Amino acid sequence: MKQVGIPHGLFYYYYYPLWKTFFTDLGANVISSSESNRLTLDQGIKLAVDETCLPIKVYFGHVQELCRQHLDYIFIPRLVSVEPKSYICPKFMGVPDMIRAAFDNLPPLIDITIDVSKSDRPLKQDIMRVGSLFTNNNNRIKQAYTHACQENRFCRLLAREGYTMAEAISLWEGQQVQNPTSGDLNIGVLGHGYSLYDRYISMNLIERLRKMGCNVFLPESLDTGCIEQQAATVPKRVFWTLGRKMVGSALYMDKRPDIDGLIYLACFGCGPDSLIGEIIENKVKNKSFMMLTIDEHSGEGGLVTRLEAFCDMLRRRRMRGEGNLPAYG
Ligand code: SF4
Repeated sequence: MKQVGIPHGLFYYYYYPLWKTFFTDLGANVISSSESNRLTLDQGIKLAVDETCLPIKVYFGHVQELCRQHLDYIFIPRLVSVEPKSYICPKFMGVPDMIRAAFDNLPPLIDITIDVSKSDRPLKQDIMRVGSLFTNNNNRIKQAYTHACQENRFCRLLAREGYTMAEAISLWEGQQVQNPTSGDLNIGVLGHGYSLYDRYISMNLIERLRKMGCNVFLPESLDTGCIEQQAATVPKRVFWTLGRKMVGSALYMDKRPDIDGLIYLACFGCGPDSLIGEIIENKVKNKSFMMLTIDEHSGEGGLVTRLEAFCDMLRRRRMRGEGNLPAYG
């Protein structure tokens, strides 16, 4: 049985069920790297070029972990676009090349280009090419891909119920996950999924908020039609898929009376975050908004203090019946 490794980073949180199902249905054994930790980041920092952002460095650490496991292949897709007329951050396009340049002990890569900006035909051809590494039966490859898409949709439905994408994947794999606890504050939390749902990168932000008595609302739990509708109100269309999702989610939550405040988790060194964070900060008018920027330093004290202060402020304002204007007016 062929062994295929999938790194536990970047688009893992959006597409792991799809690729795991696809390779498993073709008779492969899928191995993913473990959850991110200090060692993952340290290894990633050593291997990646300095200019890359934190999630890419962590991804390098995951690839390094997989390189020790005697795999037949490592799956590292080249993501360009996952929906028509929208794009993924350009750093994703270069990931397979950066990985090839940085590693000496790399197993063969399954480097598939995902670009459906104009048509999904090239992707379908690439799926057949990748499938042919495992079987000569074209029908089996097509069936495996159809099944894989169904499993991914099922996982997204779990996330609609309020679970993070990481929790949805655990549920999908048959693991036990606690129901999100209910609290007295409703906080919308935004950020790229690979930083937000990676407990090490986000310093367990979502779990901390829940322990502080907050119900966390995530973009994946919102109606996609409402997100797109709100994103379309920005004068210039945001052509990054994840960026548009965050802008639309923020504007939608800004209008919802049940949401008390918004938190945006940004990564140091991320170009799109610097722009999207700015747009959201300027457009959100009705809610208290806090931007948190994380980097390679793992000190949690600053994060906890800011979260506690934010929650205290929201509770105090609610108690006094104050609006969300800043103290200076
Ligand atoms: S969007 Fe930002 S965090 Fe994501 S890969 Fe690009 S630079 Fe890195």
